[in-house]
Amino acid sequence: MTASLRVALAASLVLGTACRGDQAARSTAAAPPAQAAVHDVDRAGIDASVAPGDDFFHYANGGWLKKNEIPPDRSSYGIGGILFDRAQERTHALLDAAAAGSAAAGSDERKIGDYYASYMDEAGIEAKGLAPLHDQLAAIAAIGDAHALAAYVGSTLRADVDALNSTNFYTDRLFGIWITQDLNDPAHAAPYLMQGGLGMPDRDYYMQPGARMDGNRSAYRSHVAAMLKLAAIADPDAKAARIFDLERRIADVHATRTESVEVSKANNPWPREAFVKRAPGLDWPAVFQGAHLDQAATIIVWHPGAIRGIAALVPRVPLETWRDYLTFHAIDRRAGVLPKAFGDESFAFYGKVLSGTPQRQDLWKRAVNATDTSLGEAVGRLYVQKYFPAASKAQLQEMVAKMSAAFDRRLDSLSWMAPKTKDAAKAKLKTLRVGIGYPDGWRDFSTLSIVRGDALGNVERAELFDYQFHLAKLARAPDKGEWWMTPQTVNAVNLPLQNALNFPAAILEPPYYDPAASAAIRYGAVGAIIGHEISHSFDDQGSQFDADGRFTNWWTPQDLAHFKDASAKLVAQYNAYAPFPDLHVNGQLTLSENIADVAGLSAAYDAYRADRGQDPGDDDRTFFISFAQSWRTKFREALARQLVLTDGHAPDEYRADTVRNLDAWYGAFDVKAGQRLYLAPPDRVRVW
Ligand SMILES: [Zn+2]
Repeated sequence: MTASLRVALAASLVLGTACRGDQAARSTAAAPPAQAAVHDVDRAGIDASVAPGDDFFHYANGGWLKKNEIPPDRSSYGIGGILFDRAQERTHALLDAAAAGSAAAGSDERKIGDYYASYMDEAGIEAKGLAPLHDQLAAIAAIGDAHALAAYVGSTLRADVDALNSTNFYTDRLFGIWITQDLNDPAHAAPYLMQGGLGMPDRDYYMQPGARMDGNRSAYRSHVAAMLKLAAIADPDAKAARIFDLERRIADVHATRTESVEVSKANNPWPREAFVKRAPGLDWPAVFQGAHLDQAATIIVWHPGAIRGIAALVPRVPLETWRDYLTFHAIDRRAGVLPKAFGDESFAFYGKVLSGTPQRQDLWKRAVNATDTSLGEAVGRLYVQKYFPAASKAQLQEMVAKMSAAFDRRLDSLSWMAPKTKDAAKAKLKTLRVGIGYPDGWRDFSTLSIVRGDALGNVERAELFDYQFHLAKLARAPDKGEWWMTPQTVNAVNLPLQNALNFPAAILEPPYYDPAASAAIRYGAVGAIIGHEISHSFDDQGSQFDADGRFTNWWTPQDLAHFKDASAKLVAQYNAYAPFPDLHVNGQLTLSENIADVAGLSAAYDAYRADRGQDPGDDDRTFFISFAQSWRTKFREALARQLVLTDGHAPDEYRADTVRNLDAWYGAFDVKAGQRLYLAPPDRVRVW
């Protein structure tokens, strides 16, 4: 989709928290000196008029929520957003310096400087009009038969989805490609083929009845027509109607978001030659040749129903409609590096309508985000040199070791798990690779050509370069140390196939991680984040992968029965949350994340109790407040609704309420039966 939606999502999917700097400034002004400049939780942000047992999120954050508004160019705001801003401003300074400096031609610094400067050159972009897209649009116009259509579709596929790490199932290209370790063979990499081809975020946007979705659909049809009009393409309204109808038919064969996370349904290795028979309608040899996948013996088909359905649509839809559809997406995808009218129109739909954001981001922010997307590790290398001290890395590695030990102890004390399963779990924990801050090795950008003054060409070449990087993995043994997030990303991720975790430098910042804060605060915030990621290795998804990342069942039927029972309780617990009267949380879709939240918080609590010092502030209440404040976020309604449908995470507010599954929380806040969040002991979910 367009950059604006990605940015909105990037800023909202991050784990939520409050800028240490802001907080210090506020408490200095409002509180007596004795309490100022203390590395504490945000006491002023608490709303004591709310009973913790009724609504823990609003108890911990109500004061802050009342005082703070979402900035006009954002669709959400909270601690994650504040850290995002911090990383963005730092990156901005690095890029400004790189753009103004005179680093050697061909160096990474020169490339990021040239890329950024080209993106910032509004006048240059304006003057070129649609010329940078000319070759691509001419190639689409020249598609004269089904073979040419398939070859074009294949040549434009990119490595733009990720089924298991960041669970990104969205691409506006007809299919998404993901290249990583083979689900069934840890010694080799494999290409994965996924559904794609929609301009709106998910099939629900096309299929769900109701006035709200009707509104989105008619706004999207208008958006398609407006983009075609801007490009001076004849007959835009009729074409927009046909493009929309084609997308609706594509959406109709798509798997749902909930189905997409079921790995057992997705583990379909098809011999490359079998596609012609199994998914007739599309000239698959031409697709694979175009995509440089014609050497791959097998391809794992993640969404077999959609792959068959989309292939079958090809001969049923006139070639002219396919050309119009491809033309629209070629333009829409690049709106950010086309003249301003295209970017504004794109924002009006993706930013305003779909995310509820009133104002488009400043150019420099968009340019920073784009440079991060295209040259992430080159930027990240400079970023960590300046902003991530070796001491932080060492301290965090120690915290991770303590969290792992807490997990190991929890495994020991589990009464329901068979010894054999415990051994396998412990082996997995022991071999877990935990990446802190940045990767051990950096991506080599030497063969990527970045041309100053060619903003659109730079984006195209960077995406192709990235695709080639992933294709090259097919020829060698998988790299267990590969990172899937850049160091300047405010987020963290579990990599099931690599049995590894990535904690980027930009999330290892106060207040998530404040080296001077008490154990209660540190474990309640970054400790729970670490615990969350570790426990993904053992949640409903992670427990399907062994220590080598092989997709296999290492559980006894009895273990699985207990686990399913605990999972079912958690599904029901989250299904009962309704952020809007007409929309409740999808407990099944968010199950993995909710298990990780419960297990991660439980392990963080254990590690804090084992590690806490003599500090009188090191108490259970502080631990739980620190946790709930780390989820501090406000959302605009349109984005909140979008996320409930498409995001594997529950809304941040309910993630803060994870506390109700821990016995210690009841004692700390004197929570009693009858209060809204109260769960009777048998209903509290203990997975690990
Ligand atoms: Zn997670």
